[in-house]
Amino acid sequence: MANLPRFNAYINGASVEPSSKEYFETVNPYTSKPWAEVARCNAVDANAAVEAAYTAFTSGEWPKMTATQRGALLHRFGDLLAKHADELAEYEVRDNGKLISEMGLQCHYIPQWYYYFGGLADKIEGTVVPSDKPDIFNYTRNEALGVVVAITPWNSPLLLLTFKLAAALAAGNTMVIKPSEFTSTSTLRFVELFAEAGFPPGVVNVVTGFGAEVGAALVEHPKVAKIAFTGGSGSGAKVYQAAAAGLKPCTLELGGKSPNIVFDDANLDDAVKGAISGIFAATGQTCIAGSRLLVQNAIYEEFVKKLVDFAATAKMGDPMHKDTQVGPVTTPPQFAKVLEYIQVAKDDGAKLLLGGGPATGRPECGSSEYFIEPTIFGDVTNDMRIAQEEVFGPVLSIIRFDTEEQAIAIANDIAFGLAAGVWTQSIKRAINVSNALRAGTVWVNTYRAISFMSPFGGYKQSGLGRENGIQAIRDYMQIKSVWISTARDVPNPFVMR
Ligand code: NAD
Repeated sequence: MANLPRFNAYINGASVEPSSKEYFETVNPYTSKPWAEVARCNAVDANAAVEAAYTAFTSGEWPKMTATQRGALLHRFGDLLAKHADELAEYEVRDNGKLISEMGLQCHYIPQWYYYFGGLADKIEGTVVPSDKPDIFNYTRNEALGVVVAITPWNSPLLLLTFKLAAALAAGNTMVIKPSEFTSTSTLRFVELFAEAGFPPGVVNVVTGFGAEVGAALVEHPKVAKIAFTGGSGSGAKVYQAAAAGLKPCTLELGGKSPNIVFDDANLDDAVKGAISGIFAATGQTCIAGSRLLVQNAIYEEFVKKLVDFAATAKMGDPMHKDTQVGPVTTPPQFAKVLEYIQVAKDDGAKLLLGGGPATGRPECGSSEYFIEPTIFGDVTNDMRIAQEEVFGPVLSIIRFDTEEQAIAIANDIAFGLAAGVWTQSIKRAINVSNALRAGTVWVNTYRAISFMSPFGGYKQSGLGRENGIQAIRDYMQIKSVWISTARDVPNPFVMR
């Protein structure tokens, strides 16, 4: 289509046309119309970006900088992000259709990652090893890995990128980013701010396009030292296999099907809000969605009525309006997938309590073809597909339980382990149940809270490794052990020292 704004790749500090000269359209889910064109990169562009990142890692200003200087740059970058947060949030909403209230909040929060990891950059100390050999001085250094590839999904592009980038840059690596083919524009605008902050060219690069065409080429590139991936478990497994062939470490943040457990001693009004935030915020398109709601039988009827009544008031509409509560689903394949799961749930005998179909055509949904009604199924059993598979949409499954032991057993009887929620006023129950849940994050009497300070990641098929928190920077470093002899005489060279 003519006259749409064009977005190029960003390599070595410059906007670069794709070697294919081809572009693909990016669609605004609220209008269902393309609003921009994005460079369709391939292995040639992937190679150019990795070479630029490799050169920036091995020569020029970046490797000469002290950790304190890197920290100062990250701080400056954080300030620039804060200044541009509203603009970046609008790019995200145009691409993924999530609420401006949510993306705005995320984009205003993101600078904290750069302040935190910028501050940490010069606090990663090595050790002096208390050597058992009297004439050896032995110390360790934490060194950067090299070129890190960050691959991101479409639901929260800049936040999930930042989980990787802030720690990896603080550690001294250089980066090649591959954003989702559905949401590339915010990353391309964001990356320009690195030059403005004073980062040398080549330290941060972006190639856009499709996973199989450009993402896979990055993962396989011999000069790439590590892959940090967020996306679906299927793609994550492919990335992990390809990385294994090159013996590259991976951080994988993958899918989820998180249990949100409401006990009979919970404050029910709070728990209703927690259940809503677990599934209808972000139209359910969040890896941490509390899509399996476990409700104790003693309060089941009362709680479910309150929940359905509350969910029925959710205001669908233009995601750019501050008071909209549920926006469209982001992509056409995702729209089809959510509707398919709704049908599966119906066929498997789940009881439809709310919604259950597309909302396209309603006046508040504009010309969007991708709205789905907030949908709740009751009397779901944990063996149903709707209870076991990630839908990634506004569809909640409610499962009954009688005892604490049953709740824990049902919650853990799943391939995923990203997050979980517990609603109770008993401190003993809160701690005991949290300890028993096989999930990387457990929220008690709250849901969907994250911070740059707190480790985030999955158990089981929800991923490998952790992002955020102090230890995250070490996942972007390797340890070198340096041995210095203080011996006055060179010992017998024919035996091990
Ligand atoms: P996806 O797996 O389809 O794509 C994610 C990214 O991987 C995209 O950039 C894509 O182009 C790329 N990709 C796909 N195949 C690839 C390959 N073979 N080699 C290299 N790159 C490849 O995921 P999506 O649909 O964009 O996002 C939704 C999924 O992400 C959901 O499953 C969700 O749970 C998960 N997610 C997880 C987290 C988390 O932190 N655990 C956060 C957000 C989303």
